[in-house]
Amino acid sequence: MDLKSKLGFLRAGKLSPVDNARSYLEKIKREDKKINSFLHVNENVIEEAKLLEKSKNRGRLYGLVIGVKSAINVRGLIANCASKTLENYRATYDADVVSKIKEEGGLIIGMTNCDEFCCGSSGEHSAFGPTKNPANTNLITGGSSSGSAAAVKAEFCDLSLGSDTGGSIRNPASHCGVVGVKPSYGLVSRYGLIDLSMSLDQIGPLSREVYGSALLLSVIAGKSKRDATMFNSKIPEYEKNLKLNEEITVGVCKDFKDLCEEKEIYELVEQATGKLVKNYKLKLVKVDLKHIKLAVQTYYPLVYTEFYSGTRKFDGRKYGFKIEDVCGEEGLRRILGGKIITQSEFKGMYYRKALKAKEIIKQELQNAFKKVDCIISPAVPSLPHKIGAKIPVEAEYAYDAFTIPANLGGICAGVVQAGNIKGVPVGLQIMCNSFNESKMFKLMGAVESG
Ligand code: GLN
Repeated sequence: MDLKSKLGFLRAGKLSPVDNARSYLEKIKREDKKINSFLHVNENVIEEAKLLEKSKNRGRLYGLVIGVKSAINVRGLIANCASKTLENYRATYDADVVSKIKEEGGLIIGMTNCDEFCCGSSGEHSAFGPTKNPANTNLITGGSSSGSAAAVKAEFCDLSLGSDTGGSIRNPASHCGVVGVKPSYGLVSRYGLIDLSMSLDQIGPLSREVYGSALLLSVIAGKSKRDATMFNSKIPEYEKNLKLNEEITVGVCKDFKDLCEEKEIYELVEQATGKLVKNYKLKLVKVDLKHIKLAVQTYYPLVYTEFYSGTRKFDGRKYGFKIEDVCGEEGLRRILGGKIITQSEFKGMYYRKALKAKEIIKQELQNAFKKVDCIISPAVPSLPHKIGAKIPVEAEYAYDAFTIPANLGGICAGVVQAGNIKGVPVGLQIMCNSFNESKMFKLMGAVESG
């Protein structure tokens, strides 16, 4: 059953939230041992569903079951960021996005696995073991929102939340064959998100269908008093208007080919783009994004520095352990690297230079959006590797070559499946200018319906 029909059944009383929650809970208990997508299951979810049924709440997510990345606070549940640092940390409050989900009748079923403190693109950097790809359990899911993508794909929940600093929603969405969206910076409140890099982080939805991500984003988006970076505008109900019936100019860029490690991915995305353009009579235009190849190098100094600064609170005095004492290799690399960058910042060596490069890439995207409504690219340049394979750091960092530009530019970007290669799902990315989520969802819907 598709999500829209299911929601209709729930709201009409033909399916009860208790039954919906119970069937997912049982499935997780039966099958998640082989996927490892949840770190902590909400044992109270049935009770919460009963209370919901008794209440007057018949909100927009009434009775839908939602998994939440372990980097987002859900009151009473363990938000450990998949790290020993916060191993037993139970969140004392709800993140803004979680309050909004609860207000609309959504049920939180548990906290999903991820790369430790959201650092990584494979899902292997979790202190509690890697998440396995439901499409092939020998392969990585991608990351960092590994559990959120896998749980949706394995049908352990209706929808999930991830966070995306450089691709962490879109990368695992691509590898697992689900839909994932990074909203424009400032559309969704970050209050209650344990930050990786505060100037780039955004919380966003994952789902099996475009409809689900559109619905969840329209619930979690919108102004909050607690996040000062937010854009003040009325949020449309994206899910109610997914028909593409406007004139659209699609941008493609020749530099994407060189960035694509696996040429088959590039070809698949090119074909899917061609089909979209033909079926919907769109216009195709080449855009120039010559600095896009510097996106990865620009991103890491920013993330190292902001991560170093953000993690100084994890000194073990108030809660948890001192991060340097217990975290994994990737987290430590960023802390040590961030420390060095911070120390040399009086000369403006790295961080300020990276900020300048960020501005150039942002400007380049803005120039492109004067000519086109969207830019279509592959989501990830390579296919998912085997779990445990020794991948050089630089190679893993390069997995985000196509996703990082949207974070640097503050724009929105969504991933939807374009096809399969060697039995593995492969996603296509649609980038639109800031706060053009409506247009982006329509285009994603058009790709989905073929
Ligand atoms: N892979 C990128 C990193 O390691 C992106 C992470 C993210 O988006 N949270 O920083």
